[in-house]
Amino acid sequence: MGRPSYALQCVVPLTRGYMLNLKFTRLTVIEEVGKYKSGDKIYKCRCDCGGIKSVLSGNLKKGNTKSCGCLKKEKSSEFWSNFNLRHGKTKTKLWKTWSGILDRTTCVTNFAYHRYGGAGIGIFEGWKVFEVFAEYMGEPPTKTHSVDRIDGSKGYFPGNVRWATKREQAENRKTTVFVEVDGEMMTLTRAAKKIGVSKSTASRWNTNGVFKNGYKTRNST
Ligand SMILES: [Zn+2]
Repeated sequence: MGRPSYALQCVVPLTRGYMLNLKFTRLTVIEEVGKYKSGDKIYKCRCDCGGIKSVLSGNLKKGNTKSCGCLKKEKSSEFWSNFNLRHGKTKTKLWKTWSGILDRTTCVTNFAYHRYGGAGIGIFEGWKVFEVFAEYMGEPPTKTHSVDRIDGSKGYFPGNVRWATKREQAENRKTTVFVEVDGEMMTLTRAAKKIGVSKSTASRWNTNGVFKNGYKTRNST
């Protein structure tokens, strides 16, 4: 693929377990499973296609191993027709959206990683599996809708994402204040209604930081 190699582009802090959740082309490190004779670590990885493969750390970093093997197989047209039968969604907007989010938030070789994963904008663990994300989001209402993070300072997780048009996204950023009540992100207007105070009171609370760590109503469990 056209990506620059890991070694050229990335500086990852060498702390214990630092490889966990990092993504190398199609492979995401999910577990350290042992050491090779050479002392090179062996990582169990999940491939974008759903496959699992154990790979030597050096081969991951150098880009020698980029997938569970599916990348090579895709070169044959026979594979493609089977692949598309099994993963009918790979060409859809929903799949491309998910794949883009996963890449930006977890793949250190993604060109935008520094603004997402590298800046603390992560993805909900369960959504690393396409089907789980797809079930939550559903298909985009129109072609012009894309995924919007309700609170732009937070990551991709249930309650903080929605399908929105470019215009709705701009409006969201400009005028709407979102706060968290009973674990759910909502507009300040809705929050005021839910809590049973006026909007101006809610607005004052917001200024005073009452919603900063989320607000719990008395009815919440
Ligand atoms: Zn694969």
